[in-house]
Amino acid sequence: MKFNKLRVAGFKSFVEPMEFVIGDGLTGVVGPNGCGKSNLVEALRWVMGENSYKNMRASGMDDVIFSGSLNRPARNTAEVTLFLDNSDRKAPAGFNDSDMLEVSRRIEREAGSVYRINSRDVRARDVQLLFADASTGARSPAMVRQGQIGELISAKPTSRRQILEEAAGISGLHSRRNEAEIR
Ligand code: ATP
Ligand code: MG
Repeated sequence: MKFNKLRVAGFKSFVEPMEFVIGDGLTGVVGPNGCGKSNLVEALRWVMGENSYKNMRASGMDDVIFSGSLNRPARNTAEVTLFLDNSDRKAPAGFNDSDMLEVSRRIEREAGSVYRINSRDVRARDVQLLFADASTGARSPAMVRQGQIGELISAKPTSRRQILEEAAGISGLHSRRNEAEIR
């Protein structure tokens, strides 16, 4: 699976709908301080199922919704859509019937988030598992936050093991086993 495009609307500083094409090879995001570079990376993590508002530098999940500026009123919803190329058919069973996957998350003030894969309502868990199997996702080592290298060095052995398991692509299996045991 490969990221093709990210669409953001009403998310943090991205008030009007905007699309960012992710081409082959390396993609760089450049711009002055405060222009929204980190917000863009957070949009990517958020649509992949990040459920900690602290990891979104927010004091509640509703804070990811555009909060208004001098000349624009606040919004009540935010939506992020990630377009994935699935022509290698690596998506998990159940979502593997098309070459293109459209994963979206929409939040409404005081009403929480709704997730969709190819316009079908799904659980947050389905989205998290989709990306965990592909060794990416909101908490994966593919997304390196500022200060994260230092945290890895000083981490306890158990948390370091968790990070290594994510990197090895087996954390999706652990999540599935936990779900099976709970049922
Ligand atoms: P730097 O180069 O300093 O790291 P950056 O390009 O990463 O900057 P961000 O941290 O992505 O910038 O963006 C910060 C901006 O986003 C701030 O101006 C902040 O006010 C704005 N912002 C964050 N959340 C919201 C929100 N909910 N509504 C409106 N604006 C927001
Ligand atoms: Mg930044």
